[in-house]
Amino acid sequence: MLDGDLYAFQDLLSEDEAAVVRRVRDFLDAEVVPIANDHWARAEFPHHLIKRYADLDIAGRPGSNLLSGWLALEMARADASMATFYGVHAGLAMGSISMCGSPEQQERWLPQMASFGKVGAFALTEPTGGSDVAAGLRTTARRDGDSWILDGRKRWIGNATFADLIVVWARSLDDDQVKGFVVPRETPGLTATKIENKIALRTVQNADIVLDGVRVPSSSKLENANSFKDTAKVLRQTRSGVAWEAVGVMLAAYEIALKYAKERQQFGKPIASFQLVQDLLVRMVGNLTGSLGMCVRLAQLQDAGQYRDEHSALAKAYCTTRMREVVGWARELLAGNGIVLDYDIGRFVADAEALYSYEGTREINTLIVGRAITGSSAFV
Ligand SMILES: Cc1cc2nc3c(=O)[nH]c(=O)nc-3n(C[C@H](O)[C@H](O)[C@H](O)COP(=O)(O)OP(=O)(O)OC[C@H]3O[C@@H](n4cnc5c(N)ncnc54)[C@H](O)[C@@H]3O)c2cc1C
Repeated sequence: MLDGDLYAFQDLLSEDEAAVVRRVRDFLDAEVVPIANDHWARAEFPHHLIKRYADLDIAGRPGSNLLSGWLALEMARADASMATFYGVHAGLAMGSISMCGSPEQQERWLPQMASFGKVGAFALTEPTGGSDVAAGLRTTARRDGDSWILDGRKRWIGNATFADLIVVWARSLDDDQVKGFVVPRETPGLTATKIENKIALRTVQNADIVLDGVRVPSSSKLENANSFKDTAKVLRQTRSGVAWEAVGVMLAAYEIALKYAKERQQFGKPIASFQLVQDLLVRMVGNLTGSLGMCVRLAQLQDAGQYRDEHSALAKAYCTTRMREVVGWARELLAGNGIVLDYDIGRFVADAEALYSYEGTREINTLIVGRAITGSSAFV
């Protein structure tokens, strides 16, 4: 049982699902938590763990959205960087192929990705901007006989320094629409350079990518990725994953703060006995519980097939905003010890900034919800 799951949402998982969650949590506690700070400090990815993620046998498995959401929560509770690694691979990259690929393309790539024989990345954002990619995407795709030629630049692409397959989104010169291509990283003309000096998710290997006359066969174009509407379908699914990750970060922060408050003594008493400290803890568990309830209902809507862009956009914007408050309060409760990595909370404070901004900033997700509830688009 998790301390922070005050309303026992976990009881909504079936017995089989709860067993998977326990298995993944045990793995994370044993193998990810102990190395998380060290790899974060060195900004190095723990490649030895890829095989261990494969052994979990969870990527690309059919199952409820409640289970996949809860797994994202558990991963972020251990380490938001590793949750992001997994989300990019199993959510964005595999999700693009399963939602936009033909049956033959799914069969070609998904089994080897599910077993982590091939790791995926997802290249949408560009140096000139992420928020207006729908209209402003500049990378081009030019048809040449039985091939496509890709030219352009991408920025922030997670896993891309070592991924085997990169899903690249580019604008077709034929019809001016955004299309998706599965590009092996080793393809001539593609270079991926690690972005250095990040202050958040340091373990994630984000890259600047240059595509210079990258030639891929027509069979690499995702058959059903023919306009940005198709890209948006993938994002609708993965944004809810980020909301779950935000809950995982809140849970970690709350658990760290609660434990510390019970152990730390000031004025001859545990600080947990002070009213103002309890106020911080209750605000934390309130944000956490409200966000978790929202994610659980979101998963039910997904499972029922009644799921729209504004549902995931609202959850992403709301939960990451609540998360930013929670990590700040937890940091405040640990005071000086809150700013050193050794107590873990410092890492969560920093990582929360990236979760808050990626997969659509709060502003962009707000505009998606605003358009849905008013019927009037405020995108400019
Ligand atoms: C750690 C990390 C990992 C990432 N991983 C990936 C990845 O794997 N693949 C990928 O494709 N991308 C990835 N991204 C990119 C991410 O999705 C973008 O950073 C995000 O979409 C914002 O784009 P931007 O940084 O270019 O900011 P901009 O789009 O330049 O926005 C700057 C500011 O302007 C605001 N703004 C923009 N337009 C409006 C408007 N109309 N109204 C009000 N405010 C507005 C934004 O909200 C923001 O505050 C990652 C980013 C980070 C930080």
